[in-house]
Amino acid sequence: MQTSNHSPSPAQRLAAVQARIRQACQQAGRPVESVRLLAVSKRHPAEAIRQLQALGQTAFGENYASELAEKHRQLDELPLEWHYIGPLQSNKTRTIAEHAHWVQSVDRLKLVQRLHEQRPATLPPLHVCLQLKLGDEATKSGTAAHELPALAEAVAKSPRLKLRGLMCIPPPENDPEHQRRWFAQARQVYERLRQEGHALDTLSMGMSQDLEAAIAEGSTMVRIGTALFGPRP
Ligand SMILES: *Cc1c(COP(=O)(O)O)cnc(C)c1O
Repeated sequence: MQTSNHSPSPAQRLAAVQARIRQACQQAGRPVESVRLLAVSKRHPAEAIRQLQALGQTAFGENYASELAEKHRQLDELPLEWHYIGPLQSNKTRTIAEHAHWVQSVDRLKLVQRLHEQRPATLPPLHVCLQLKLGDEATKSGTAAHELPALAEAVAKSPRLKLRGLMCIPPPENDPEHQRRWFAQARQVYERLRQEGHALDTLSMGMSQDLEAAIAEGSTMVRIGTALFGPRP
């Protein structure tokens, strides 16, 4: 492992994040394989992705459609899994449908219809997480819990899409107990959809600052940017 007086190497950062995940799983009494690591590479160069891929990381998340498409082209020869996690505009759905394996920020019916129509027939179905809005004014993205069942139904009926679960970005909280409460709320909404018959397996929550709280409340995928790549340029 490379050592430096300045910033840690990609291998050191990855090992540190994996250790945090492992420890959070142990504390929650969960198997470490029950939590996937999504490396959020937005605004970092393709070279940084290449470095993490060489260390065994395969799933990468991006927030801008054109940046995802560009990196997908640049890294075409690598067996990577691309997740789109940014706010989704209707005029960007084609790019996502053609370049992503997953989209985690679906929050309205129009997007479901467009992604279904635009997913190329030559590709396997696009994996979908619906974005749950937590709190009132925290973010403009996401859909309220009571609107999720209709949206989930629409995805389930679209053969070019595959419904996998929920994604959420709770409002920032300083108090870890408050933080956990948001994640617990997301978990309840997720369990309710499962009880309604949706075969979901993905609860995408937890970022660099709060992955421990998210794992304690049942996250199955943490989306980590800063802790893996350093500050965004
Ligand atoms: C940027 C981003 C992340 C990663 O955030 P970090 O705090 O850098 O780990 C995770 N999820 C979403 C939706 C993001 O936009």
